[in-house]
Amino acid sequence: MSEKGVSYMHYVIIGNSAAAIGAVEGIRKVDKEGRITILSDEPYHTYSRPLISYYLASKVDEDKIIYRELNFYQRNNVETRLGCKVIWVDCYNNEVILESQERIRYGRLLIAAGGKPFIPPTEGLGKREIYTFLKLDDVKAIKNVCTSGARAVIIGAGLIGLKAAEALRKLQVEVTVVELANRVLSAILDETAADIVQKRLEEHQVSFRLNTSVSSFNGDEKVSSVTLNNGSVIECDFVIIAIGVVPNTGMLKDTPVNVNRGIVVDSYMRTNIENVYAAGDVCESYDTLYNVQRVIPILPGAYKQGEAAGQNMAGGEVEYEGGFAMNSIGFFDLPMITAGIGRPEGEGFEILEKRDGQSGSYKKMVFKDSRVVGFIYLNDIDRAGIMTNLIKEKIDVSQFMNEILKNDFGYINFPKDYRKQKMLGQKVVST
Ligand SMILES: Cc1cc2nc3c(=O)[nH]c(=O)nc-3n(C[C@H](O)[C@H](O)[C@H](O)COP(=O)(O)OP(=O)(O)OC[C@H]3O[C@@H](n4cnc5c(N)ncnc54)[C@H](O)[C@@H]3O)c2cc1C
Repeated sequence: MSEKGVSYMHYVIIGNSAAAIGAVEGIRKVDKEGRITILSDEPYHTYSRPLISYYLASKVDEDKIIYRELNFYQRNNVETRLGCKVIWVDCYNNEVILESQERIRYGRLLIAAGGKPFIPPTEGLGKREIYTFLKLDDVKAIKNVCTSGARAVIIGAGLIGLKAAEALRKLQVEVTVVELANRVLSAILDETAADIVQKRLEEHQVSFRLNTSVSSFNGDEKVSSVTLNNGSVIECDFVIIAIGVVPNTGMLKDTPVNVNRGIVVDSYMRTNIENVYAAGDVCESYDTLYNVQRVIPILPGAYKQGEAAGQNMAGGEVEYEGGFAMNSIGFFDLPMITAGIGRPEGEGFEILEKRDGQSGSYKKMVFKDSRVVGFIYLNDIDRAGIMTNLIKEKIDVSQFMNEILKNDFGYINFPKDYRKQKMLGQKVVST
């Protein structure tokens, strides 16, 4: 209630990361007055999660990883309750329940609780110095045990595991990565690309054990070695589990909110329950390439979904148009961008590849029905932006497909009509 007795909407947001911040900015586009409360179990100002490995490597300080300036909450008139965990959503009474048993009433609720690490049950899991790699608190704890010459085992050669490996090597920690698949980054790279990335990491003394996993953590109270499926043992001082991330939907147990792998939402980011919305890594969103709803855990998607949710919570009508998996990362100065379907399975795909042994670059384009549906760019990421647009706008590339991997390829190779529309800033509608 305002001083003048006007009652304002109370927006409650669970989470304080990309999707939550997108929601605050979305709400404020429509509603300048409503009350916004952010609830987060992390005690920190909003920060950019992809930067935690750089913080661990001491490449950036804590004040450089913030996702919005320090006066963000004040400027947007947001109340924050940091370091407080939501344990249940009482959709019947429009309330969220905190660990302290306090109840907070909402007018509209956004669940932007992101992901949590997937940890398979493994013998010896409860031992000390077994970490995950998702939160600032995780890397702060890891930083304390990163003495030069310490030995780490990282389980998982996905994006998070390899970013952790890179950071640890910069701190002179000995690193062995254990991966169940037959190659690194198996979710996004084919064998050729994975081989290049693995070699670059090996040049920096990261060791790999592929095609296997950890069957037990050994030691007294603290982990001192791991046993692999094949029986071999790796001595270590600490372990990082980076197998994968799953939507953080625990607070919805025994609620009527539809949860599949992630929270189920429509294109307005509404759940099946009135006044309850979800956005970011916690929910399933529309994948424009596979034409399905699925969890696509990337930061720009989380922000955009949050922004759309925020506007809709405040009375707007904004559809989230969907997206596709995309990663722009690098390891030891080997840049790479992948998008969409980089490892096609099934019929109907066409592939163009180009590998330059001298520069160490590798490019692969995947097409279906004369449209680009994915690419892998390694060590030469020029024009990746153009390729992303081709995917997004579903442009028919049949007229210039064979030019696409040439060094001088650019918008000049596009049909005249397309260029004209681009110059006029119009959205291209492909038939
Ligand atoms: C090491 C690393 C590197 C990454 N690199 C990239 C990259 O290069 N590019 C990219 O696009 N993406 C990257 N990602 C993924 C990206 O960080 C996520 O997609 C993005 O942060 C998702 O945002 P979100 O707001 O949905 O959730 P999250 O960032 O997961 O945030 C969830 C929030 O909810 C809070 N919360 C959860 N449960 C509760 C509860 N019960 N009560 C209260 N609060 C709760 C958490 O504290 C947190 O603030 C990376 C992730 C990691 C870990």
